[in-house]
Amino acid sequence: MTGPIPATTANARICPNCDGFATAAVSSGGRDHRGHLRTLTVNCPACHGHGTWHTRAAQLAGGRA
Ligand SMILES: [Zn+2]
Repeated sequence: MTGPIPATTANARICPNCDGFATAAVSSGGRDHRGHLRTLTVNCPACHGHGTWHTRAAQLAGGRA
């Protein structure tokens, strides 16, 4: 077998940058007139909020392109 081997095959498609937690709510400070906390929804820049890593079909088929 050639090439890097993932730690486990079960989570091989989870985004390595966010570990699957692709969206976060970030407080922007302050509250609105109803007392709700103002938050911004930010997506992981690597997976664009999907939480999965796009593995090419060739890699899934054994790593030969
Ligand atoms: Zn991600």
